[in-house]
Amino acid sequence: TTSMQDQETTDGFHLVIDALKLNGIDTIFALPGIPITDFLRQAQGEGVKVISFRHEQHAGNAAAAAGFITGKPGICFTVSAPGFLNGLTALANATTNCFPMILISGSSEREVVDLQQGDYEEMDQLAIAKPLCKAAFRVLHAEDIGVGIARAIRAAASGRPGGVYLDLPAKLFAQVVSREVGQRSLIKVVDPAPKQIPGPDAVQRAIDLLKGAKKPLVILGKGAAYAQADEAIKQFVEKTGIPYLPMSMAKGLLPDNHAQSASAARSYVLAEADVVMLVGARLNWLLSHGKGKTWGAADSKGWGQQQFIQVDISPTEADSNVAVAAPVIGDIGSCIAAMNQAIGSSWSKPPSDWTGAIAERKDKNLTKMAETLAKNPPVMNFHSALNVIRDTIKANPDAYLVNEGANTLDFARSIVDMYEPRKRLDVGTWGIMGIGMGFAVAAAAVTGKQVIAVCGDSAFGFSGMEVETVCRYDLPVCVVVFNNNGIYKGTDVNPLGKEVAPTVFVKDAKYELMMEAFGGKGVRAATPAELKRAIDEAIASGKPTLINAIIDETAGTESGRITNLNPAAKKKA
Ligand code: ADP
Ligand code: MG
Repeated sequence: TTSMQDQETTDGFHLVIDALKLNGIDTIFALPGIPITDFLRQAQGEGVKVISFRHEQHAGNAAAAAGFITGKPGICFTVSAPGFLNGLTALANATTNCFPMILISGSSEREVVDLQQGDYEEMDQLAIAKPLCKAAFRVLHAEDIGVGIARAIRAAASGRPGGVYLDLPAKLFAQVVSREVGQRSLIKVVDPAPKQIPGPDAVQRAIDLLKGAKKPLVILGKGAAYAQADEAIKQFVEKTGIPYLPMSMAKGLLPDNHAQSASAARSYVLAEADVVMLVGARLNWLLSHGKGKTWGAADSKGWGQQQFIQVDISPTEADSNVAVAAPVIGDIGSCIAAMNQAIGSSWSKPPSDWTGAIAERKDKNLTKMAETLAKNPPVMNFHSALNVIRDTIKANPDAYLVNEGANTLDFARSIVDMYEPRKRLDVGTWGIMGIGMGFAVAAAAVTGKQVIAVCGDSAFGFSGMEVETVCRYDLPVCVVVFNNNGIYKGTDVNPLGKEVAPTVFVKDAKYELMMEAFGGKGVRAATPAELKRAIDEAIASGKPTLINAIIDETAGTESGRITNLNPAAKKKA
């Protein structure tokens, strides 16, 4: 495979490949072009799995999802300037979500870029990447490739994980060095995400606070899922008997049908709890910043009565929104293990009037939801369609569920139970659209498992072209497009009666033909029975499938469950 080189020398291309392989990186997500085309070819020749996309943002999203699933940085390769910028969106999103990822972009020559002399795809990529990721590095000499890759891996995976940018100028790839110097310069990173042990006093402070609580609550976030400390977390929850809420990507860390899950009584427990222990979850907008009416305060700016414990690897996360009485700083595995130890054997479970009140509300809400789900309206709506998805995941708990959209996301999050950790991949901290096909390809390519991607018709549009990628690699991905003819709803009209409203799409679009175009299977499903049959067939065959699920175009609400964040004009057109 090194026919291009003689025995005595190696080059930048091969040193990058060798450095990645030495660090156990076996898959890269990419889009070829100058100057990385031959790199991808050579990498494939050296046994690296190369998944090539149609747009860099989706390659980047795939790398980010691979990072979340495996705990190892996901790698994305792009060309310079525009390709780099496309990948940068994914890198920034990965950083926001605390997913380890490395974006490696080819770039043009420093001498020309720095003098702004107008090179092919000229751009100072390093400077642009810096504020949007955790760390950014550039390698100018082939013998520094080992250090560059090692630094990128450490920066992405250690502490709070995140995105790293690595800038590789075109000239670097072709640099030749002696084989001996090349080999010696490579670094196998030892312990890329070292344990961080919490202080015993911090652990004791948290335990004391929990012991005094009358209405304790645990909130599990995607950091807890990422930490792969599943057994320790389960032990902690079950030993303490404290009710818990999973944030959306922590669903399945404990099965959603767990007796202690308070999901179905979410608003009650947030408003009522007195001591709240956050585990890998930030008090950001998704948790109403830890204050206001959600937390039982009298007004939207006020504070509730909660005291917070925060288990997190980042020491600066505590007090970001409200006071944290007991920060426990370290990796979640070590923190929870230490807390399990400190609990000892004489733990008394939370008062039964607290757990009883939660159980009562849960029962009421679950009964109400079951009634809604049992309805089969003449035109399929979010509930009757998601009831099918719910049954599908129940029957196939090891399948990945990718989920994006507005209503499609909000309803799926509360209706579709998850049973295994890290199986739900969604729009994350930013609540973005467009992660669908990138995440789906990554989950299928990295794990070989069935993926079901439930996407609103709008959300799907951002990455829809990647169904070709799904077909090209023959991945077990079943895309279900919730098609209600538009963004939020398909019923908006232009107030002036001309043209089309900005929120609507072509009516009755045949999304299933997009999959057929590339040799996959496309199905139109207008009833729950048709949807069920199509999904069952997709799973049985493991073939690329797209189901165009026809949803009542009047069924959505504007901005789904975050309507409050969407300003509306006082003076109407
Ligand atoms: P969610 O959106 O599910 O609430 P967030 O993304 O807001 O979750 O929070 C994840 C938190 O988890 C971040 O504050 C991050 O620092 C933390 N985190 C990530 N990985 C680990 C880990 N291995 N150990 C401890 N904390 C972690
Ligand atoms: Mg829609």
